[in-house]
Order: sequence, then structure tokens, then C-alpha cells
Amino acid sequence: MAAQSYDRMSGVIWYDGKLVPWNEANVHVLTHGLHYASAVFEGERAYGGEIFKCTEHSERLKRSANILDFEIPYSVAEIDAAKKLVVEKNGRKDAYVRPIAWRGSEMMGVSAQSNTIHLAIASWEWPSYFDPEQRLKGIRLDLADYRRPDPKTAPCLAKAAGLYMICTISKHAAERKGYADAMMLDWQGRVAECTGANIFFIKDGKIHTPIADCFLAGITRATAIELAKKRGFEVIERRIMPDELNDFSECFITGSAAEVTAVAEIANWKFTPGKITKQLMDDYTAAVQPKGKAAAA
Ligand code: PMP
Repeated sequence: MAAQSYDRMSGVIWYDGKLVPWNEANVHVLTHGLHYASAVFEGERAYGGEIFKCTEHSERLKRSANILDFEIPYSVAEIDAAKKLVVEKNGRKDAYVRPIAWRGSEMMGVSAQSNTIHLAIASWEWPSYFDPEQRLKGIRLDLADYRRPDPKTAPCLAKAAGLYMICTISKHAAERKGYADAMMLDWQGRVAECTGANIFFIKDGKIHTPIADCFLAGITRATAIELAKKRGFEVIERRIMPDELNDFSECFITGSAAEVTAVAEIANWKFTPGKITKQLMDDYTAAVQPKGKAAAA
């Protein structure tokens, strides 16, 4: 893998309303967002120059900020326009898009009542989150030690930087054991999601997925549910306990970065990626195509 550090890449970054050269998009070390994780972000993909579910991501970014008790000083329409500009100016039609909003430096303590709010948007090339060959064969997941927190203990419906602390620790532990990622249970020991993607299971032609009330209800998750229903599959959102995992034949995960990726293994549970997973992978690939192309297909 090319060890290109992200701060050394080239291009432009939209920073507080202006496009700036990549190496000028910096923050001071005394920034609230860095010390207290008062930052929210998005992960999106542009396909053929068009950002998939662009507005949904901008809306979620604003919502995440509100959950953390701050207001991004740009409207959804302004954020949409800024993201499009970044993708266009960086000249990559297939790109990952990363908006991030954070509290600045005016106050440096737990209270941050008068901190200014910043927004930056970068885009770069990011071909496949998991090894492309494994995407249909199925990736291997470990079972994480950490659990998704009780909604009473963390703002778990926000895409907030602080919530990723346990994801990075869990993903590192999994990778050290040779797994691609880890599945996390929730605070009550029920199946929740992966460190950066939602999870689905298949049994007797029906699709089952955990209720997203203590973890991020992914935009890709919603798309996959919609695509599955369009194909006539029943989608059941319910509580899933880990001891049920033996009963499922297929498993896949969804995310803007991960797209739809088959799972072959979770710790000791085995799955065989099959027709339904393949169908949804294909349907997702078709759905993300820029509108002109999709209509022609
Ligand atoms: N859960 C977590 C923890 C994530 O980081 C992501 C990726 N944003 C998802 C789920 C999937 O969300 P989406 O489909 O909106 O990308």
C-alpha cells in the first residue's frame, strides 16, 4: 500500500467557506475538537462525479452537530454545493468525500459555549474499503470486546468522532489476529454493527438486521433495505442475539465506504455468500451510478 500521508496529498480542501491548497488546511493544536472530540463528520462516495445520497449526508452532518450541541454555520444546500465543488475541483470522478465540523479554540475546557464552529471538506481517491477480491467471497470478522454504548451514556446516533475510539481499538485488535474487521455487540449483548458499517443476515430467503437505536443507522443500510424490498425480499429489523448466528446462511455489511460487502466468517460462525448478497451487491452498484448512466442501463 502506498504510504501517502493524508496531509501530504495534493488538491484543494474547502475550509470555512473557501477552497485552500491541501497543505494549508490546518488546525491549531489547541482546538476543542482535538482535545474533547467535539467533532462530527461524514463519509460519502462520488461515483462518476456525482455524490451518492449527497443531501442525506449533509442533513446527517447537521443533525450530528446538533446532538453534540453545536450548529454548523452553513445550510444543507451550502454544504451540498461545497461538497460538489470539492469533488469537481479535485478532478476525481470516483472519490471518497469527507466533511468534518469541529469546535475551534476560543475556549479550552469542557465548556465550549463560545467556540466558533468550523467546517472542512476534503475528497480523495479511495477504491475499495476491503480487499476487492474478498468483497464477494466474504471478509472475516472478529467479535469485538467493546460494545456499542447505551444511548443514555453516549450520543450514539451522531456520527461523532469520539464514538470511533472503541472502533479503532476493536479494528486494530481484529487486524492483529488477521481479521478484516470486528462485529460489535451493543450494551445489552445483542448484535449491533461493525466498526464502520451496518450488518445484515439472511435466513430462509428473509433478511434480518438489528434495530438501529444505539448505533448509526447508515444511509447505505437504508438503501440496502429499500433495494431488498424492491426485489420482494422481506426485511426484518429486530433484536438479534449472537447465539442465533448459527442459523443464518448469508451475512453482509453495508456502508458508504464498505458499500455492500459479503461476510464469510464472524469469529466461529460461518456464512456462505450467496444469491441474495450478490443480488444486493449488484443492485447497489447500479443504484450508485450517476443518474444519467443509471437511466441508460
Ligand atoms: N456504522 C458506523 C460506525 C459507521 O462508521 C458507518 C459509516 N459511516 C456506518 C455504520 C454506515 O453508515 P453509512 O451507510 O451512512 O455510511
